[in-house]
Amino acid sequence: MSYEPVKKKLQRGELVVLDGAIGSEMLRRQLTWEGHKVDSHPDVIRSIHADYVQAGAHVISTNTFQLARRSWLAHFRDVNHMRRIGPPGLERRAGPMIHDAVALARQARDASPRKNEVAVAGAMTTLEWCFRPDLTPSVEEMRAEYVETIRHFKEAGCDLMLFETFNRWLEAQVALEAAREVGIPAWVSFVPDWEGRLLSGEAIAEMAAKLKPLHPDAILFNCAPPPDVTRALGELRRHHDGPSGVYPHVGRFDPPDWMFTDKYPPEKYLEEARGWQKQGATIIGGCCGTTPMHIEALRRGLARN
Ligand SMILES: [Zn+2]
Repeated sequence: MSYEPVKKKLQRGELVVLDGAIGSEMLRRQLTWEGHKVDSHPDVIRSIHADYVQAGAHVISTNTFQLARRSWLAHFRDVNHMRRIGPPGLERRAGPMIHDAVALARQARDASPRKNEVAVAGAMTTLEWCFRPDLTPSVEEMRAEYVETIRHFKEAGCDLMLFETFNRWLEAQVALEAAREVGIPAWVSFVPDWEGRLLSGEAIAEMAAKLKPLHPDAILFNCAPPPDVTRALGELRRHHDGPSGVYPHVGRFDPPDWMFTDKYPPEKYLEEARGWQKQGATIIGGCCGTTPMHIEALRRGLARN
């Protein structure tokens, strides 16, 4: 598999179904989401991926939320402090974990009769906490860390990168440039606020203009409630005519867990998704709180083109 079949679908304006939540799905299956459970519960993670493939997703994303060197470094004063009091090898732990997580998604895909139509996306969020645009590191720091981390995803066999839950165009710009340097296609997905802007307050028109020279393979919105992505998508379509998509969350963020609500059961979610398709979205999936049943409803109920 490669990115080509998905790329061709997007070029023809056909629907590409993205998978649903991984983290909240782990909670729903009685795990916690700390530590990713890639090594301790590989069967559960693999079966979540397999359920999304079976539900009809064309793109599945890896269980790698906030898996980068900085995720551990943030707990220490600096790298010297980490080496002094942390376990040996902590600063290099992200790489092997990314490889293991990607392997589980690829195994689930390769075991399916649909294997030739499903791409594996390396999911990577912001280097700092995804809902804190004020913490964005300097461009120089980000560049090195993105190249390092994206290399792990590429070596592990991902077909594309999914930069998700981004909050500022600057970080997206750095991430897209890094993906180009490493040589892997990339989608970038932003968290919108409730007024048709990015979570940072930056205008969507500005983001689209800044990213245009980098030719992102798609621009999306995720991890906000359906009405917020609807508004952001409307704004994006006025400034971006390339592939675009949405995968909102359903429920509420109750740190460190997820609160499941019954506001958007699969059929209601499908109704919303029909609206996104009318707005011009060709990539539709789900973020936190969505399940394989939501993705199955999309695949069954949305127009194919
Ligand atoms: Zn989410």
